[in-house]
Parts: sequence; structure tokens; C-alpha cells
Amino acid sequence: MDINIVTLGITNTYIIKGKNGYIMVDAGELRKEKSFLRQVKNLGIDPKKINLIIITHAHFDHIGSLADIKNMCGCPVLIHPYEADILARGEVVIPPGTNTAGSVMSTMGKGLKFLFRFKPVTAELRCEGEFDLRPYGVNGRVIPTPGHTKGSLSVVLDDGRAMVGDLAMNFAFQKTNYPIFAEMPEEVYKSWDKIKKAGAETIYPAHGACFPVSNLIEK
Ligand SMILES: [Zn+2]
Ligand SMILES: [Zn+2]
Repeated sequence: MDINIVTLGITNTYIIKGKNGYIMVDAGELRKEKSFLRQVKNLGIDPKKINLIIITHAHFDHIGSLADIKNMCGCPVLIHPYEADILARGEVVIPPGTNTAGSVMSTMGKGLKFLFRFKPVTAELRCEGEFDLRPYGVNGRVIPTPGHTKGSLSVVLDDGRAMVGDLAMNFAFQKTNYPIFAEMPEEVYKSWDKIKKAGAETIYPAHGACFPVSNLIEK
């Protein structure tokens, strides 16, 4: 299974090739629909062959271009019910920081919410538990991994590659892969254990390059 990385602003989105088309994980920052189209064309991917968009969580940098990308693909969106409501309301949520840098950015972000307003989307598929991706031709599953947000989801492929949204981050300035923002900080480590138990070996974060799961150590 090929994993194509399409970076939309500061956010990596992933387009995974299945047996009968593709599935996509996350939809990037605001106003990145043209960048999306340019990048998928360069990769030789027809957006109409994307059969499902999985949203790891409803932060503006993961759903900013969702409405337009969903239109181009003409496919359903899968998201946790808690996040689905935020997405449908078009609510800009700024999470609390977990360290000094995160707290400064969070405070600044709260004052600039108007800049992050996105087009609301009604998701067709709400997923609270596990979701098997085999019907979409992909050997893997979606699992709930709360911590960064209450309704965060991760995609774990059978071959050990895992797209985790913001459950782990890999910005160049970070010393660890612990997310710099989290609504439920105490849940992050539990969800790290969960993805390890689910067979994750290589982590594909939404921010920064991929890294081995062994980096996810409780401090
Ligand atoms: Zn986030
Ligand atoms: Zn993010």
C-alpha cells in the first residue's frame, strides 16, 4: 500500500492507495484546495478515486480545506461524533498548550480565531469505536485515540504504519514527540500504549516527518 504525503500548510495529509482507489487522512489548513489539486495531479491521483476522508480531529489545521476537498472527491467523511458536532457547527477550537511554547501559541490563537474560520461540513460517518477499512480496500483500521482532543482518531495499517493526527507531533523545535497542545494530557500516554498494542511501528504525524514508534516513551 502506497502512502502519499500531501502537505497542506503546516499539516501533512495522507492519501493511502487501496485495492479500488484511495482513502485520505485529514484535509489540511484553510484555502489549500488549489494546492491539494496541484499535488494530487503531480502524484497521478484522480480526486474522484478517493473514496473516504478520515478526519483525525476537528482542529482548523486538519479541516480547513475539507469542504472543498470533499466536493472534489465526492466521497463521505468519517469522524468521531464529538468532533463531528464541532465540524458541523464550524466552531474554531484552540486547544490548551502542554508546555510554554504551546501555551503562548494557544493564547495567541484564541485572540485570532476569526482568521481560522472554515466552511462547516456534515460528516456521513460517525465513528466512536473501531472502524474496519477493508471495505475500502485498505488493510487497516481506525481506532479512537483520545488525548490531543476527546474525539481523536488514528489510522493503523496492518503493516505497522500509523497515521495519528496530533496524538504525537514532530515539529523540528520539539525535544519529544509529545503534542504541544492537548485537551486531555493524561490520556495521551494511554493512547500511545493503545497504538503500540494495535501494532503501530512507524508513526506518520500530521506535523513533521515520520518516526519510529519507539520514540513514544512516557516521560
Ligand atoms: Zn490538533
Ligand atoms: Zn494539528
